[in-house]
Amino acid sequence: MASQLLMAKSPEEAISAKTAQAAFLAGGTEVNRLGSSVDAETLISLKKCSGLDGIESDAGYVTIGSMCTFQQLIESDKVPAYIREAAHFMASRTKRNMATIGGNIASMRRDSYMIPALIAAGAVLELAGSGGSCRIGIEEYLDKAAEYAGCLILSVTVPEKIKLMSKRYSNTAQSHAVLTMSAAVCGDGIVMAAALKNSGIYRLMDFEKALKADPEMSDDDIISWFRNWDAIRVEADMFGGEDYKRYLMGVTACDFRAGLASGSGKEVES
Ligand SMILES: Cc1cc2nc3c(=O)[nH]c(=O)nc-3n(C[C@H](O)[C@H](O)[C@H](O)COP(=O)(O)OP(=O)(O)OC[C@H]3O[C@@H](n4cnc5c(N)ncnc54)[C@H](O)[C@@H]3O)c2cc1C
Repeated sequence: MASQLLMAKSPEEAISAKTAQAAFLAGGTEVNRLGSSVDAETLISLKKCSGLDGIESDAGYVTIGSMCTFQQLIESDKVPAYIREAAHFMASRTKRNMATIGGNIASMRRDSYMIPALIAAGAVLELAGSGGSCRIGIEEYLDKAAEYAGCLILSVTVPEKIKLMSKRYSNTAQSHAVLTMSAAVCGDGIVMAAALKNSGIYRLMDFEKALKADPEMSDDDIISWFRNWDAIRVEADMFGGEDYKRYLMGVTACDFRAGLASGSGKEVES
């Protein structure tokens, strides 16, 4: 349990205070929850950090400060509809008033509300660390989690005009999700991503390639593709058996393909 709280007034101050024994504190909904994996002696609060809560729209892209809460995302008319939809997956308004987009990304939870939509949208993160700042795609951030663990997420940039669909499956709106999945139209193909509880967060690139190679794949072929996809390990648990989880990914991929082809993705309402 943390014994020290530092109130950083700027990103520079937050970064200079970051050590292996310290963790950033944004909304605190993950850091302070019972059973949290965040174990730090010092918490560096970002609450009073300047410049982390803006939302700017420019040249077809929206840049969202990492300290923007889920509720701010929902209430901003600059934020694309597909991000607002993912923010709504957090059903509790009380939690939405606290939880931030930066905290959600850095948590990298396997039932993440937001990360599948960000992957499908090709989101770019602006990071700052002791060695300077950089901009990287969200997939690289997830792939090289250990390398970027000490970095502060400053912002996330997403395209405004993209057709994107998301689905989240849980017993109730407040329950943990067994699967959260998103897909977006990208060029002449589809980008798809999934957060599968107790399994992992995946860019479904193998499936994207299979669909590109055979755009006429039937729904049965798609369901069978996910049943036989051996690149991931799918655990049976209280959320469902392996067959069920694979089936869920398959039928969702079918829905996304049909939905995006018929133009039902959320996009340009902003
Ligand atoms: C009952 C309950 C259920 C939940 N269910 C879900 C769920 O289904 N899906 C889900 O995704 N989340 C869930 N959460 C976790 C949490 O609410 C969200 O992930 C939330 O978006 C985290 O944001 P935060 O601002 O509260 O982060 P914090 O708790 O403040 O921080 C989370 C992590 O991110 C790091 N961090 C925060 N900001 C930054 C930054 N700018 N740069 C770098 N690192 C940073 C912190 O050091 C910490 O490691 C749940 C939490 C609770 C209490």
